[in-house]
Amino acid sequence: MMALTHRTGSIAVAAAMVALLPDLQKIPEYVTDFIWLPQAASLPLAACFIISSCYGGLLPDADIPHSTAGKHLRILLWPLYLIKKVLLILGHIIKPLKKAGTALGHRGLFHSPLFHTLLFVILSALFHDSFEWLRCILAGAYIGVMSHLFLDLFSGGIPLLAPFSMKRQRPAISFKTGSFLEVIFNLVFIFISVCMLYLIVLKKSML
Ligand SMILES: [Zn+2]
Repeated sequence: MMALTHRTGSIAVAAAMVALLPDLQKIPEYVTDFIWLPQAASLPLAACFIISSCYGGLLPDADIPHSTAGKHLRILLWPLYLIKKVLLILGHIIKPLKKAGTALGHRGLFHSPLFHTLLFVILSALFHDSFEWLRCILAGAYIGVMSHLFLDLFSGGIPLLAPFSMKRQRPAISFKTGSFLEVIFNLVFIFISVCMLYLIVLKKSML
């Protein structure tokens, strides 16, 4: 899946949440208490949520050093890349280490919904009483990550059950990276984003 599709997809999801969530009155309190949702967000917070989602939408591919996220996070992630290489080399002698190395490879642990959800739960608990901006960034990034995993599910599959099983699962309907279908998806996401951003501005101007 192209980085552009992950960008447009994550923006479309986050913008739709900002535009439509305020109309959903009955979101249980335990949900809103746990995850920051753009229900009555100010325009700057709504923008922050959408931008965070856009960056979050690129994060899972940081497991490839030459990806957009990988290039920006190389300084932070070089120990991970190094550990992966060492595990894969040692894996030729000790088989279980090869599995661990593969788990750190592309579409491994970084593409596990369970791993990211667990990480999000821990960070949410840590920053529960923190600044609203921080909770907004965290929630936006999580939504972006989830949109990435959802899209990858349809283009090659992801290890849905990782870390318990690294086998990639994919639905019957899937498409190839850079295919005509992906271009269509991109155009649909751009159209949704524009409509939702227009709706957000319209609603805010009527307040
Ligand atoms: Zn990916």
